[in-house]
Amino acid sequence: MKELVVVSGKGGTGKTSVTASFAALSAEKVVADCDVDAADLHLILDPLPVRSEPFVGGAKAVIDGGLCTACGRCAEACRFDAIRRDEGDGGTYQVDEFGCEGCGVCLLVCPEGAVEMRDVVNGQLFVSDSRLGPFVHAKLGIAEENSGKLVTMVRREAKEVARENGIDLILIDGSPGIGCPVIASLTGASLALVVTEPTLSGFHDMKRICEVAEGLRTPAAVCVNKWDLNPDVSGAMEEWCDGKGLPLLGRVPYDGSVTDAQVEGLSVVEHSQGPASRAIRALWERIAERLPAG
Ligand code: SF4
Ligand code: SF4
Repeated sequence: MKELVVVSGKGGTGKTSVTASFAALSAEKVVADCDVDAADLHLILDPLPVRSEPFVGGAKAVIDGGLCTACGRCAEACRFDAIRRDEGDGGTYQVDEFGCEGCGVCLLVCPEGAVEMRDVVNGQLFVSDSRLGPFVHAKLGIAEENSGKLVTMVRREAKEVARENGIDLILIDGSPGIGCPVIASLTGASLALVVTEPTLSGFHDMKRICEVAEGLRTPAAVCVNKWDLNPDVSGAMEEWCDGKGLPLLGRVPYDGSVTDAQVEGLSVVEHSQGPASRAIRALWERIAERLPAG
């Protein structure tokens, strides 16, 4: 099973446009949107969900007022200050569900067995049919956390769908940043394509994500998007990649048709044959050569 994950080090570099174009160019694949905090690949793939399941990302404490003797040990032990005495309810203690981080310490210290940890549904995972093939995606609830765990669930489900359908390629729109979700996106992938932009902050983010991939022993390659907006920084990026032995597989020029494609809900390569479309097609050919044989 080959997994190509497209990452960026930060949001807004064009990685989703590149992933959508790869989805249009590749014959047999499962597409997985692991950018669960700000998912937008569905805007291009137009999915029709065939099944969904809740994502349980953690648990929160609940105190049974009937068992609580108001000893206060749980409130003293909670380092998130999420347990308060409720003077209006017989002086028992209650958990503020928004403050609770689910650490479980109150459960351990309560001498009366009055604390219970209850699972919390943080989001929803979907397996869909889409106009570009099977698509696994997810929606994390507003202000919910644990997106690394949800990313792992999306990847696992995508592999399952690929196995069921005899498909050996998974295209992953990875999470932005370098935190837990992106580590969950990159770990064990066949190849990470880092899509970056030629700005100083983009350069900084590119270095960081390449180092994360290196630390995880995930082979990486780089594509500079809108390279012609700053040829000097693009050149510096190329030199840095050379020095690190990282292949720079593509340079995509600025092209207004990329925005037009987004507005029309199409991938760039479906929308036009312009300069960005041609550069992404060439990039895909180089990527396909580097993916291990199935
Ligand atoms: S589970 Fe942890 S954070 Fe939540 S109320 Fe108990 S001690 Fe506080
Ligand atoms: S430790 Fe248990 S009994 Fe004591 S206040 Fe907390 S919930 Fe109530």
